[in-house]
This record gives sequence, structure tokens and C-alpha cells, in this order.
Amino acid sequence: MSVQGKDFTSRVTVADGAWGTELDKLGCPPGYCREEWNISQPDRVRQVAEAYVAAGAQIILTNTFSGNRITLAKHGHGEEVRAFNRAGAEISKQAAAGKALVFGSIGPTGKMVMMGEIGEDELYEVFKEQATALAEGGADALVLETMTELAEVCAAVQAAKGTGLAVAASMTYDSGKDKTSTMMGVTPEQAVEALLAAGADIIGCNCGIGIDNYIQVAAKMRAVTDRPIWVKANAGLPEIEGDKIVYRMTPTEFAQKAQQLVTAGANIVGGCCGTSPEFIAALREAVCR
Ligand SMILES: [Zn+2]
Repeated sequence: MSVQGKDFTSRVTVADGAWGTELDKLGCPPGYCREEWNISQPDRVRQVAEAYVAAGAQIILTNTFSGNRITLAKHGHGEEVRAFNRAGAEISKQAAAGKALVFGSIGPTGKMVMMGEIGEDELYEVFKEQATALAEGGADALVLETMTELAEVCAAVQAAKGTGLAVAASMTYDSGKDKTSTMMGVTPEQAVEALLAAGADIIGCNCGIGIDNYIQVAAKMRAVTDRPIWVKANAGLPEIEGDKIVYRMTPTEFAQKAQQLVTAGANIVGGCCGTSPEFIAALREAVCR
């Protein structure tokens, strides 16, 4: 497996950090459909992408995390899947300007198969629609991220693979005795097996309770697969301050910990909640010398 000639296993690749908080800093109102900005505020979205490229990210994502039909419909944009995702991929490709790969971001629908809220066939169709639009917009690969239910992410992998692009499948691990299982009790080893069987090319973990935890998760994954491992951790453990969630880890601390992630087996490292271009600049400096 390679994306534009990169196989990710011979050296470390740096990915970008959080998008939501960066868009919020540029004035995206709380609760607003951020994907709508791909149409109405493309320059501001491009600014986020460009900041990550300038910081040294070799992979950037797209402003399409909630760009599936089910989530967009909550904002009255259920018919805009194609337009929002195509535009999101095009904006990131322009910002990357050949200096970074663009992975189209696909997040969860918020509906659970286990609770009987949705079926796998419907999920497949929902993700196929989004993945197809990202591919049309020029994405180099796709990433399914912040996934919590194995049935959902497997349906998404199958749908995403239909585009012919390489697919990274990243779940959140924050539960169980040592906090290395998903919310529903799936271990990293079980996830690797199921996601590879579904067709994923890259296996990963993102969001969660901080980078220390993902050093353990990456090691567990590395023990059972030779495939590239993708890790985008949050900037430490989230803390509640008043009505806000805050992350106290500094870019320097994050970058130091990331070296341990690489030692544990991670090939692609970036950041999730609480990270910014400053974190990615420090990360690039620390892991790509
Ligand atoms: Zn996150």
C-alpha cells in the first residue's frame, strides 16, 4: 500500500492537528455546521489548512469530519453532502500545493448499530456518498476517525475502499481497566484484526485521554500488525474548567511524548483535540530530524 508513492513505514510522517478549534478561532460560531464554511468561507478554511502545511505537516485532513448525510441533516444540510465534501477536499488540496498529502476526513454518524438506531447497509450507503464526494474533490486517501463502534467503522472502511483510495481507520481508545479499549470494550488487537479484514490499509487511534495512553495502544497494535499505524492524540488529559474543556499539555511536552509513540511503533503522528499548528511544528522538529 502506498499513497502517491509514500509507504509510511520507512520513515515517520507528520500529520496535522485539530481543525474545529482553529475554525472556531477564525469566528465559526459554537454549534454551527463547520462543513458549511467550505462553501461560504473557503478562505478561512484554507487558512487552517495552510497553517498546518506551514507548520510542517506532511499529511493534512479536510474540513469534512461531520460531512455525512445524517449529521449534516441535523443542520438542515442533508442534501449538501456532495457539495460540502468536494469543496473540503479541493480547499485542502489547494492549501497542500503538492507539499502535503490530503486525507479526506470522515467521522461517525452518531448512530449506533448495537442500539438498533441504524443498520450496516444504511451506514455503508451514507459513507459511500461522503467518500465518493471526497474522492471527486481530489483527496489522496481517506481517514475514518474518532470511531467508537466497530460495526460502524467496518461499514465505513468497505464504503471508502470503493473509491479505490487508500483508507486509514482510526478509533478512540479510552475505556476498560487500562484505558486501552474502545467505549464498547474492543481491544486494539481485536480492532486491528477486524479493520484489516474489512480492507483498511492504515490502522490508527485518535482523540481519547492523551498521548501516554496511545503509546500503550500503538504498542499493542504494533505487536499484531506490520501495517502503518496512525496516531493523533489529544494534548493530554482533558480537564474541565468552568463550562469549558481545556488541555494543558504544551507543544514541547507533546512533541517529546511523540518520540515515545514512534518508538512504540507509530508511523504517522499528528494531534487531535487541544493541538494547533504550534504543536505540529514542535512535533515535526522532534520526530523528523
Ligand atoms: Zn479529539
